[in-house]
Amino acid sequence: MKYTNCCPKCQHSEIAIIEGGTFKGNTYNSITMTLKVIYLTRYVCTKCGYCENYVEDQDDLESIKRKFTRNDFPDEYV
Ligand SMILES: [Zn+2]
Repeated sequence: MKYTNCCPKCQHSEIAIIEGGTFKGNTYNSITMTLKVIYLTRYVCTKCGYCENYVEDQDDLESIKRKFTRNDFPDEYV
């Protein structure tokens, strides 16, 4: 949906993009980390209402990877 700009459910091509964050008026769509909150960007099909959420920031993705996936890289924990 993010890359195709097309709804995977109904094939509609008008997708609304709603950025997360307090200043964007979208505080609740978030992942709470130890030291910060990661806000998700939501992609909404304007026809059927299907939603997808994305973490847009690569650093945030790294943080999530370290916190929520199995620890394959113990050396990164310093
Ligand atoms: Zn749709």
